[in-house]
Amino acid sequence: MGANGTELQDKLGSRFRRRSVKVAEAQSRIMETVEAWMERKARMDMVPLHRSGGRRAARRMHATCDWPPFDRSGVDGFAVRAEEVAGAAPDCPAVLRIAGTVAAGDAPEALMPGTAMRIMTGAMIPEQADAVVMLEQTVDAEAGAASGIEFSRRAGSADDGYVRIKQPAQTGQHIAPRGEELQKGAPLIERGELIRPGHVALLGTFGYTEVPVCARPRIAIFATGSELLPVGQPLRPGQIRDSNSAMLAAMVEQSGGEAEMYGSLPDELPAVREALREAWDTADIIVTTGGVSVGDYDVMAELMRSVLRRDTARGLRESGGDEELHRIDAADGEDELLFNRVSMRPGSPTSAARIGGKLLFALSGNPGACFVGFELFVRPALLALQGESKPLPRVVQARLASGFDKGSPHDRYVRVSLRDSQGYRIAEPLGFAKSSMMVSIPAADGLALIPSGSAGAAAGETVDILLIP
Ligand code: AMP
Ligand code: MG
Repeated sequence: MGANGTELQDKLGSRFRRRSVKVAEAQSRIMETVEAWMERKARMDMVPLHRSGGRRAARRMHATCDWPPFDRSGVDGFAVRAEEVAGAAPDCPAVLRIAGTVAAGDAPEALMPGTAMRIMTGAMIPEQADAVVMLEQTVDAEAGAASGIEFSRRAGSADDGYVRIKQPAQTGQHIAPRGEELQKGAPLIERGELIRPGHVALLGTFGYTEVPVCARPRIAIFATGSELLPVGQPLRPGQIRDSNSAMLAAMVEQSGGEAEMYGSLPDELPAVREALREAWDTADIIVTTGGVSVGDYDVMAELMRSVLRRDTARGLRESGGDEELHRIDAADGEDELLFNRVSMRPGSPTSAARIGGKLLFALSGNPGACFVGFELFVRPALLALQGESKPLPRVVQARLASGFDKGSPHDRYVRVSLRDSQGYRIAEPLGFAKSSMMVSIPAADGLALIPSGSAGAAAGETVDILLIP
C-alpha cells in the first residue's frame, strides 16, 4: 500500500475511534488476560510417559531416588580394594583370588580381603570394593599360565582362579558413585517446560508411568467473509477458498493447541454471534479471520465495537436463552476490548478482546496479515497457556540483504528467508510480500522488524528478526 493509502487508513481508523497501541503493549495486555485465566482455569491431563514428549509439564517433577541408585562399575574389569593393589606393577603384579562374577543386575556379596570380583559395566560394586581395574590391566590365571608366568594358587579354594593386577588403582576409579548424577528430590523438569526425549528418559528412570501435562488449549477457528468457499468447493466468479482457517489450524497444532473448526461465516453479525456463542462453551480461545477493517461488511469490527459498549457477553447470554452461556460467570469480570488497532504493518486492524473471561482474537483476512497476527499475538497466548515462561517470538539479529526504503509510521514486519554468509546471518526480504499475498509465507524463516520512522532500513543494516518456528 502506498503512503496515501496508509494515511487514508489511519484517518479511517481514527474516525472509527480506533486508537492504535504498540505491538509490545498489545502483547502485554494479552499476557495479563492469559495469566488471569491460568490462575482460575488451567487444565491438566495425565498422559502415558511414552506420549508425553512434546507436551509441557504441568508441574515440577522430582527424582524419586538417588541416581545412580547404587555405586556401579563404569567398565568391564575387576572390583578390588585399592589398598591391596597399591604396589602393583607389570613386573610385580598383585595377585588376587577371583571370588566370583558380578553381572549387571546382580546384587553381589561383600568383597573379602585378598580377593577380586569380575564385574561388568553397569553392575553393582560389591561392599568393601572401592576401585575397578579395567580388564586390559589384568592377566587372569589361564592367560598367565599360557604365557608362562608363574603364580601361586592356594590349595583347596573353591574359586575361579586368580587375577594378576599390573597397575595400582586409585580409590573410586571406574566407579560411578550412587547419586553422582542426581540426588533424591532433585528437579527433573520445571512446570511449563517442553518435555523433550531426554526428559522422557529421566522420568522413566524414576518410575513415572504417567506424566501430568498442561492440557492442550482448545482454539475455535472461524473465517468471516461472504466471498469464502470451503476448501473442497470449485471456485466461482468473485469467490475464493477459505485457506486461512486451515493455516491457522496448522499454526495452532504447531503451538501445542487443538483446533476446532467452525468453517466460514457470511459477513452478518447474527451469524457471527451465533457461532461465537456455540464456540464459547468448549473453546479456551477463539480466533477469527477477516472482517476487522473499516469497510461496510466488517462484522468483527462491529462486534468489537459492541465489546467496547460492554454488552457482548450479556448479549450472547440473552440470545442463548438457556443455561449454556451461564458459564460466563461473574468471576470472569467485565468484557474488555484489549485493542482494536495495532501500530504495525501488516495487520493494523488486528483486534483482541476478553469476553466472558475468554480471549477472542480477530485477525485480518489478508493471509499475510493473518499470519503475522498469529505469530505476534496468538502463538504467545497459546504457549503461555501451556506454562511457557518465554512465550514471545524468539528474536535474533541479521543483516538485511536488500534495503527497505519505504518508511512508515508503524513498525513493519517483513517476511524474510535467513542464510549464513561469511560469519554473518543474512536476511533476504521475500517477494510477493504484500499482506494480501501468500506465496512467500512458506519460505519465510522469520519476520524482519523494520522500526517505524521515515527512513526504512538500508541494505547491510542490522535488524531484529522474529524467528518463525
Ligand atoms: P478482510 O480482512 O475481511 O477485509 O479480508 C481481506 C482479504 O483477505 C479478502 O478480500 C480476501 O481476499 C482475503 N481473505 C479473507 N478471508 C480469507 C480466508 N479465510 N482465506 C483466504 N483469504 C481470505
Ligand atoms: Mg472480509
